Amino acid sequence: MRKMDFMRGLERYTLTYCQYGDTRMKPTDIWTNHPNPKFLPPCKNGDPCHVSAPRGAKTGTQGLKGLVERSRIPEALCEHIVDTCEEQLSFRK
Ligand SMILES: [Zn+2]
Repeated sequence: MRKMDFMRGLERYTLTYCQYGDTRMKPTDIWTNHPNPKFLPPCKNGDPCHVSAPRGAKTGTQGLKGLVERSRIPEALCEHIVDTCEEQLSFRK
């Protein structure tokens, strides 16, 4: 299997963590075969929903200490994904 072949046919959705309660914008791509995952639309640079993180600033991803903090997924996003998957499963019953 060629690298990335498993992504073929999957839809890509872009979202930003701040839409799920994080203070950082952190744009994130998610691939899913779910027909309608209903992710919140991403915001734009400069929107008030996240802390602005200019180069060298101590806010934002670069200012957070530790890999765990940097790779943490906002709880609200986790819950949304779980809810969406459970909804999908219930459609199949
Ligand atoms: Zn934002």
